[in-house]
Amino acid sequence: MDGIVYDLCIVGAGLIGSAAARHATIISPNAKICLIGPNEPKERSIFASHYDEGRITRILDTDPTWSVLSRRSVSRYRDIEQKTGKFYLKIGHSSQKGNDLHTENDVKDWFKKTEGCKSMFQQLMKAMFDIVKGVQPVSTHSNTCVTTLTPTLNIYCDMVTPTLGLAVGGCGHGAKASDEIGKMAARMVIAGKWDHDLPADRFRVRFKNEFNSKL
Ligand SMILES: Cc1cc2nc3c(=O)[nH]c(=O)nc-3n(C[C@H](O)[C@H](O)[C@H](O)COP(=O)(O)OP(=O)(O)OC[C@H]3O[C@@H](n4cnc5c(N)ncnc54)[C@H](O)[C@@H]3O)c2cc1C
Repeated sequence: MDGIVYDLCIVGAGLIGSAAARHATIISPNAKICLIGPNEPKERSIFASHYDEGRITRILDTDPTWSVLSRRSVSRYRDIEQKTGKFYLKIGHSSQKGNDLHTENDVKDWFKKTEGCKSMFQQLMKAMFDIVKGVQPVSTHSNTCVTTLTPTLNIYCDMVTPTLGLAVGGCGHGAKASDEIGKMAARMVIAGKWDHDLPADRFRVRFKNEFNSKL
């Protein structure tokens, strides 16, 4: 360890954690902030959400909370854009797989070692070529996706103790909205209390044994 005492430690350098770190440094430029987590892997050796080339993104959602989070994040995409000269076109589907996945290891193996449903991939490719005429991709591939749903279907962003906050549970669409979620979490932890214009109750963590909680 480097012997530095940090003012804020963010555990998890994924989409929300890295956005929280970005905003925490903007809100408190003089604070000592560290972001803890594995580097981006070259292949799917880590069981996490964000190791992916592209993102499906939209600002409309049946839940207005997600719309607000996404709209604000999308408006800041230019701030975090990295120009690679490559363009990715990503398509997803919502079919559920699960009947033959019984344990966490089953899910990990499926996620890391397979490339998803080949017939679905072919259908999606056909749909894409029907809609986007003339596109000539350099390469195509399919991959698996695992998402975490909270019982409220909203992200959990809450203080668990006076000095420990959490922001977890992307419910399958956390990537597109992660910049605003990270900002919300950074403001909350730095203030030590809720500090956002959206209502805190939308994001309140539900613990195991609380009504309707499946945690
Ligand atoms: C394949 C896939 C595709 C997706 N596509 C989309 C999409 O197109 N659009 C969209 O909006 N959403 C998409 N999602 C959902 C989105 O990626 C997640 O909602 C989002 O990444 C959640 O952000 P997060 O920071 O909570 O988690 P993550 O991005 O998974 O980050 C968590 C991080 O914590 C790290 N970590 C875990 N344990 C520890 C530990 N003990 N110590 C330190 N670090 C730790 C992990 O390595 C990881 O880096 C997709 C998810 C998957 C799996």
